[in-house]
Amino acid sequence: MKARQIILPITGLAAMSCAGHQENAMPNVIYVFPDQFRASSLAFWDEPEYSQHVGWSADPVHTPNLDRFAGESVVLSDAVSTCPLSSPYRGMFLTGMYPENSGITLNCMALRPESTLNPEAVCISDVLKAAGYSCGYIGKLHAEAPMKNDPANPGHYVSDRNPEWDAYTPPERRHGFDFWYSYGTYDVHKNPHYWDTEGIRHDPHEYSVKHETDKAIEFLRNEDGQRDPDSPFFLVLAYNPPHSPYESTDDCMEEDYALYRDMDYKDLYVRENADTTLAKAPSARYYFANVTGVDREFGRLLSELKRLGLDKNTIVVFTSDHGETMCSQGTTDPKNSIYAESYSVPFMIRYPGKIRHRVDGTMLSTTDIMPTLLGLAGLADRIPESVQGRDLSPILLENGKECEAPAATLYIRNLDGEKDADGITHGFFPAARGVKTDRYSMEIAIRRDGTLDRVLIFDNINDPYQMKNLPYEDNPELFRSLCGALREKLAESDDIWHREKVMERLFEDKL
Ligand code: CA
Repeated sequence: MKARQIILPITGLAAMSCAGHQENAMPNVIYVFPDQFRASSLAFWDEPEYSQHVGWSADPVHTPNLDRFAGESVVLSDAVSTCPLSSPYRGMFLTGMYPENSGITLNCMALRPESTLNPEAVCISDVLKAAGYSCGYIGKLHAEAPMKNDPANPGHYVSDRNPEWDAYTPPERRHGFDFWYSYGTYDVHKNPHYWDTEGIRHDPHEYSVKHETDKAIEFLRNEDGQRDPDSPFFLVLAYNPPHSPYESTDDCMEEDYALYRDMDYKDLYVRENADTTLAKAPSARYYFANVTGVDREFGRLLSELKRLGLDKNTIVVFTSDHGETMCSQGTTDPKNSIYAESYSVPFMIRYPGKIRHRVDGTMLSTTDIMPTLLGLAGLADRIPESVQGRDLSPILLENGKECEAPAATLYIRNLDGEKDADGITHGFFPAARGVKTDRYSMEIAIRRDGTLDRVLIFDNINDPYQMKNLPYEDNPELFRSLCGALREKLAESDDIWHREKVMERLFEDKL
């Protein structure tokens, strides 16, 4: 651990002792991640300082607070969601492990009981709690298979939805989070619900992003003793918007929608690979309205952090669990693909005095988040053995040591395994694996019988919208090199494709 400067307490700070302990050497950490917020939905990417690092244009969104925050942060231009789907992402973020080890290989719901956070896994919150942090979780968890454990109706799921998606997480499965205000997954943005630390359900009947920000502000102020005022805190704020639904003003705030209402929805599409004739196309207005709603509330959180004098000693991260294709690439699936719209995520870290503002091309995988945050907090020596990702904090910190940057990121797509007579899924089918290097993206997909389905190769420098697949048969040297990078990542993560020698079987003579 690095030596830390000892800052003498200043008398005047005693007045804000309830909320603020700026003199505490261990930094607070706030991790904010809306769901399905794509990397290009940030207006600053069109400014020259940023646009030179990416080949694409920013969506025509209003994100003034995030733009300002970017100017105070390291902005990662090549952060990805390794398995761009809600629950697998959350498993990787929490544990630093790939899906097979975190336990979450598929999106959690009652018909997939095997896909759930391994209760034995050491989560980032377990480590921070053991290091003396007060940990709070607010918003969408979606990392637990629903169980028949409704606190208000024991022996039943939390609703009578069939199949059940939503879930209640009991205290023994909260992994060090002492303060709890969360739910599994539920997609009614203006009528959300939560279970609190004691398991009491709340139905606030207001826009979830606003409500969760209010709860986060109460946590910062420590209004009701949500945290130990003498300890640093770790707060996760997991908004659901701009996740679907995004069909009408029932799904977003009118004031945010007003910014997009008078534009022809076709003008909201700036990506050359978008098809605005798709039925989904008018949704962009409501999706972007939710982007702006997230921006406004995130700004409110940052203002309060500053007002409380906590901003200087707090690491703030803004990211997302995956992106949103929104009519690009001819697919109706908003996520779960290697296309940049789905696989790339926003990732900004602000750590005043420790991280310099810049755009950085370090390729960050989802499994790197946990060890990197622990490294930034000065707890590199507490990163658990189980972690499969890398601590990239030396690359990010102003005074960090030399550290080799990752050469590639892995891509994972799993689908349901076999289903039994009751419709319960057992295991998973590893449908596709892929790799992204500093220039290329490659996805290899297989069919259920194990034969090759397709290979996609994109040159992200000459073709930033990924409109021209480079056939692998016509580019043997490039293909061999990308296969080498992929096989290395598969071996490193001990992926099922590595154990079952899928690459060797498919491409024997071409590797
Ligand atoms: Ca998601």
